[in-house]
Amino acid sequence: MVPFRNAFPRGSVSPSSQQPILSRIEAESLVKEAVESGVLERVAGDRLGAQLYDPLVREAVLEGAFESKRRGKGDVVSVSRNVFLPLTNLCRDRCGYCTFAKQPDDPAAKTYTLEEVADAVRGARRAGCVEALFCLGDKPEKAYKSHRDWLTTQGLTATSEYLVEACRVAFELGMLPHSNAGILTVEQMQALKRWNVSMGLMLETTSTRLRRRGMAHYVAPDKEPEVRLRMHREAGELAIPFTSGLLLGIGENAAERVDTLYAIREVADAYGHIQEVIVQPFHPKLGTPMQFVDPLDDAEIAGWVALARLVMGPGANVQAPPNLAPEVLELLLRSGLNDWGGVSPVTVDFINPEAPWPELRELRDRTEAAGQKLVERLPAYPEHLAQPKFFHPQVLEATLGLADADGWAKPVAEKGRAA
Ligand code: SF4
Repeated sequence: MVPFRNAFPRGSVSPSSQQPILSRIEAESLVKEAVESGVLERVAGDRLGAQLYDPLVREAVLEGAFESKRRGKGDVVSVSRNVFLPLTNLCRDRCGYCTFAKQPDDPAAKTYTLEEVADAVRGARRAGCVEALFCLGDKPEKAYKSHRDWLTTQGLTATSEYLVEACRVAFELGMLPHSNAGILTVEQMQALKRWNVSMGLMLETTSTRLRRRGMAHYVAPDKEPEVRLRMHREAGELAIPFTSGLLLGIGENAAERVDTLYAIREVADAYGHIQEVIVQPFHPKLGTPMQFVDPLDDAEIAGWVALARLVMGPGANVQAPPNLAPEVLELLLRSGLNDWGGVSPVTVDFINPEAPWPELRELRDRTEAAGQKLVERLPAYPEHLAQPKFFHPQVLEATLGLADADGWAKPVAEKGRAA
């Protein structure tokens, strides 16, 4: 196994760009303009991003991001009580940081049966969960004959068809599916929309450098940025509420992070379907090619959450997973996020199994101690739920049945759509 330490510069943002050095006063001025106008112009975003390594600039960005969030989202921070269903951990890609994906001959390789999906969903319903988060590898049938053969025994040709069946099972048992299944075609997304409230695909990065030999996405054809952006646009054309995000610290530089955020902003502006933007830090994992790569430190993570808020604007939903920076939830709450993402009382984070979820009670206590208010949400946000075009009629009806008057999740005791 090749240690990638040299190939992957530490996640910190070095002053390597051509941007002129910003003073704190200049940074504050750029941030103030962004907060007042609701738009961080690209030139300003590039300059602030290039100097987020500087604590003074970072603090200015944090303060502005918090104010922007306050103006757009008030004191509300949301969370989704979910069950994480890794329908299959087979995947045709081999990202340099991943322990989720397994080869078919690995004893840990697993594809859930529909009965196992149903059992997990029933348990999750008892725990008050609403969202069925389906996360799976990308098109394993392209790489593994054994998986193709197995699909054939089910009368199917693609994993996405099996996912449709699994989503149907979860939906009919009263859960609201959200699928994150890698690259899907228009037809596959159309089929999934019948049972899914929303779907997702982290853009991760617009850096094509990371597809080169020795880099994180070298053996990952589905991580080609243009392919991922195309799916973002197609989801927009299909009016699917869509989750995207930035993955921090996998070898990209500051300019590429800023570029990724603006690429998401562009599709969000074009289609209005980007329901949330996740800012997710890379966690090194033993046994992967990137096990020795240093992750970003917590202050830098907060800085990029804050810049994401300024780029996406006050009305966007900006999410940072609480299990990936558990020591600094208060700092993240100061950085302009308004969503903690999915937190499961019944399953681990299968992508980052080394990082346990916080208890929902702890999350509530720490959010409220920071002067903000935690609300539970559904797999779509109130602003999309108010627009029927984003949903298949049966999905909209089911989702509104679990929503309160403001579009958030009804309290647990009031749940109970007929299964
Ligand atoms: S990160 Fe996703 S696409 Fe990459 S290998 Fe893992 S499961 Fe596959």
